[in-house]
Amino acid sequence: MSDADDFPGYREPTLSILRRFDTPVWSDIRAHTTRGLFEGLILPRAETADEAHISLKLVSGYNVGLRHDTIESIEKVGYRPADYRVPEEEFPFDPDKPRVILFGTGGTIASRLDYRTGAVIPAFSPGELYGSVPELADVCNLVTEKLFGVFSENIDAGHWKILAERCGQAIEDGYQGIVIGHGTDTMHHTAAALTYMVADSPIPIVLVGSQRSSDRPSSDAAQSLINASSVAAHGDIAEVLVCMFGPTSERYNLLHRGTRVRKMHSSFRSTFRTLGDVPLAMIEKGKIDPIKHDYVRRDPTRTPDVQPYFEDKTTLLYYYPNMQPDILHALIDNGYKGIILAGTGLGHVNSIQFEALERARDEGVQVYMTLQTLWGFVQMYVYETGREILERGVVPLANMLPEVAYVKLGWALGRWPNEPEKVREFMTTPVHSDMTAGEPVEGYLVFQGGVPEVQDFLKTIWS
Ligand code: ASP
Repeated sequence: MSDADDFPGYREPTLSILRRFDTPVWSDIRAHTTRGLFEGLILPRAETADEAHISLKLVSGYNVGLRHDTIESIEKVGYRPADYRVPEEEFPFDPDKPRVILFGTGGTIASRLDYRTGAVIPAFSPGELYGSVPELADVCNLVTEKLFGVFSENIDAGHWKILAERCGQAIEDGYQGIVIGHGTDTMHHTAAALTYMVADSPIPIVLVGSQRSSDRPSSDAAQSLINASSVAAHGDIAEVLVCMFGPTSERYNLLHRGTRVRKMHSSFRSTFRTLGDVPLAMIEKGKIDPIKHDYVRRDPTRTPDVQPYFEDKTTLLYYYPNMQPDILHALIDNGYKGIILAGTGLGHVNSIQFEALERARDEGVQVYMTLQTLWGFVQMYVYETGREILERGVVPLANMLPEVAYVKLGWALGRWPNEPEKVREFMTTPVHSDMTAGEPVEGYLVFQGGVPEVQDFLKTIWS
């Protein structure tokens, strides 16, 4: 057998060490090192990783690197070549359970670790997902369809349109719920896009992702998938929802409205938070507990209105001190039709933008104001700057989140390309709480008011 087969990915000096102790990849070992004893399975080394470490999967399931110059001796206690492929399995059919369709789009939820490159690659087909989460069969009859296999930074308006059309088709085909597996990074954009593109859905449309790939012991994929499928199959909320971990622990998931949700942490499993409001519901082991009651109910008689439009010449401009007006001018020069500003404080940009804003107004480019603070409302009558900006035709969008405003504007400009008044009217009309009358006080204070666990926690720190 060649080294490449026995010691895939290893180079000097670690290669000699593994040879000396006769411990090829997949050996179960006890490594005595200057930093203590480590027990586990030797993994292939990623091609792009350094040559100084041996990769070890510990008994706990976590991976560590053993540095070559810390190793004193290695005992081989066994050999367990691993097969990380998950079998593709056909979903069993139970006539008494609701029919749910799961669209796969990619992201970590549809990924596994590639030991060759060390990278997380989109590899799980929805069939493989079922193979690894068989509990899904207890929830519903799940049909899976892989629409795309991309990380969500590559999701664009073209994907949103296909998803909207496939949702419309699935509703027509009589599915009782839709689940969409999606990368988490831009899942909130897709949730907003589907809210506008698939109006009046009679059934729940639930987006779900995971922060940890399924090969990791801390993966949130299985719990979130089971909860999302339960919401799609049995829940009464016929809106576009995001179903992700509530706390960082495995206790329950939260259901967030697609227009009020945002990814807020790069790595926490509880990364999705409802902003400016409280989440719609908690869901624990498939049991849904509503927190709010003002949602659109499931109603199989309702006909959806699918409008897959998007104007690509729409942008979201995040203001920063010292921003020069040439950016706004460049957008106008390049034919942009709509601009969402994410302004400071109550909705401000510096005064050197005023002339460019006048030009935008005069040339029919729609400009709207949202807030970088994410919480709170645009209030442009308070300071002189706000009034000046208002006078130049910039329209305030209350507490609409900047990303939601971007998606809403792109959709509206695509839907009514020659009717600016219609676009403006739609932008300033609340849709599925993308703008709300006010914020719940406890919503901002605890980020997720209404969740008993958080209230209990607060009691412990305030008393
Ligand atoms: N980069 C990944 C994505 O958004 C992260 C994830 O899925 O959580 O596709």
